[in-house]
Amino acid sequence: RKGNVIITGASSGLGLATAKVLVETEKWHVIMACRNFLKAERAAKSAGIAKDNYTIMHLDLASLDSVRQFVDSVRLSGRPLDVLVCNAAVYLPTAKEPTFTAEGFELSVGTNHLGHFLLSRLLLDELKKSDYPFKRVIIVGSITGNTNTLAGNVPPKANLGDLRGLAGGLNGINGSPMIDGGDFDGAKAYKDSKVCNMLTMQEFHRRYHEETGITFASLYPGCIATTGLFREHIPLFRLLFPPFQKYITKGYVSEEEAGKRLAQVVSDPSLTKSGVYWSWNKNSASFENQLSQEASNPEKARKVWEISEKLVGLA
Ligand code: NDP
Repeated sequence: RKGNVIITGASSGLGLATAKVLVETEKWHVIMACRNFLKAERAAKSAGIAKDNYTIMHLDLASLDSVRQFVDSVRLSGRPLDVLVCNAAVYLPTAKEPTFTAEGFELSVGTNHLGHFLLSRLLLDELKKSDYPFKRVIIVGSITGNTNTLAGNVPPKANLGDLRGLAGGLNGINGSPMIDGGDFDGAKAYKDSKVCNMLTMQEFHRRYHEETGITFASLYPGCIATTGLFREHIPLFRLLFPPFQKYITKGYVSEEEAGKRLAQVVSDPSLTKSGVYWSWNKNSASFENQLSQEASNPEKARKVWEISEKLVGLA
């Protein structure tokens, strides 16, 4: 049978490009987990993905009720689940004030980290049941959360601090909307959320890899300077960012190439190693990359996991 893969945020950018690559191999059925059904339908059509090869299911990661309903729908569909890709994200670099999810968490960490945290925890049982030759959970990371890189050193840098803001619920009412307890900064909130994504992947590996055989992985697909991720940025930035990445940093990668990279982490039978953060060199060969000290700190990973469990109602 074909493998079944859920990709969150498959209505644009990296998620859509990955769906297209996987479907073209004729080995995968893609469940596009999207908040905007019509947009997802149009995106699938314009990418030329044939109707039989995808299913769109509604998921709004900024609502934990929506996450729970989505998981129920997956269970009821009777379709086995083999791979989960946590790809969706919001990036709000120019926001002056924080905005919040349905449960009142700051939107970037609430969507990118907490929504995916609940989703992946609840879908673990479905993945365990799969009889596919391999099962995987992939959480898309980013270089920007890694302060051991040049890109990760552009201020404001990621820093989760002592997690006091996260422990306080990130609601900006009786505490800070930022994980470290500081003042709101949209660009930093995104980077912090990506550190949480990478820590979560490693904590999943420590807790569940041996018991379940599931491969947990993260990756930095390269700088895909053209995606909708930068839609909230000022126009001048959007104009100059792609050529800057192409000619100056040389980190630029097309959506198509980035899609091939993520598709490789989904489907390449040889990429079975768990607990790994994949990157690619100039010739597009994958290699295991080093995470920053904070993004690989097991103690922090455990704490983020435990606090997140409380926030999403799992503990
Ligand atoms: P896009 O903005 O193109 O795609 C993001 C997707 O997330 C969209 O489909 C969007 O849906 C979806 N999304 C946002 N909020 C929600 C929500 N509440 N519920 C469900 N879906 C939601 O950005 P990219 O393709 O660039 O980003 C994909 C991933 O790649 C992210 O994890 C990002 O951090 C990562 N990444 C991107 C890099 C880059 O250079 N672009 C570099 C490194 C990592 P909708 O279409 O409805 O808006």
